[in-house]
Amino acid sequence: MAEEQSLIEAGRHQEVGHKSLLQSDALYQYILETSVYPREPEPMKELREITAKHPWNIMTTSADEGQFLSMLLKLINAKNTMEIGVYTGYSLLATALALPQDGKILAMDVNRENYELGLPVIQKAGVAHKIDFREGPALPVLDQLSKDEKNHGSFDFIFVDADKDNYLNYHKRLIDLVKVGGIIGYDNTLWNGSVVAPPDAPLRKYVRYYRDFVLELNKALAVDPRIEICMLPVGDGITLCRRIT
Ligand code: SAM
Ligand code: CA
Repeated sequence: MAEEQSLIEAGRHQEVGHKSLLQSDALYQYILETSVYPREPEPMKELREITAKHPWNIMTTSADEGQFLSMLLKLINAKNTMEIGVYTGYSLLATALALPQDGKILAMDVNRENYELGLPVIQKAGVAHKIDFREGPALPVLDQLSKDEKNHGSFDFIFVDADKDNYLNYHKRLIDLVKVGGIIGYDNTLWNGSVVAPPDAPLRKYVRYYRDFVLELNKALAVDPRIEICMLPVGDGITLCRRIT
């Protein structure tokens, strides 16, 4: 919620798709036009276009990251998954389309309204039955899940794309909920490139606020012996954590 609020305060409506950390926009455009858009499933295109008209569209997962998530989920044969931070549902739809018919996504967001903007597209795509959407903060849901031993080690894949100031709190709980060999993906770990900005750099208020949390997360993940990690410059940076113990 704080992220949304600060985005409104910043009055920032950035063009969707303009999210690259690559050296040039032309190169990013090349990736999109050559390998992403031609293969983007029709419902995802429709949802991307609906989201582009929404004032907080900068929050959406980019099409190239959606394609990456889809590939990853298929590579690991994911079936039971979780998503924290849904917004209008682009990454959720990418996940729902990538999972088998009996796949499941426990999806959480404090905002139902934005989820409902994308829901008709998800329903039309015939994948809504895979989604269990919970409106509200994610942390209490994770605490509830953690109480039941049978949920421990039960998730194949977890995508975390919400309030960055809670990522370490999520990690404490998720590390038990994901199975050994399963993956947690923390999104936006390069945080607009601000992770390497000098202390006096002119950063937007919300970027500056969350930067310290992202830096702290990155340091903690790098030394966590329970996981192997891989930080990828896809979208705004995604750190994949594979549980090993
Ligand atoms: N994955 C989404 C997509 O593909 O469009 C983007 C998610 S957006 C970057 C972040 C979302 O996290 C917002 O929709 C916001 O409402 C949600 N959020 C913020 N704080 C939250 C919390 N404590 N629990 C659950 N969701 C939260
Ligand atoms: Ca994100």
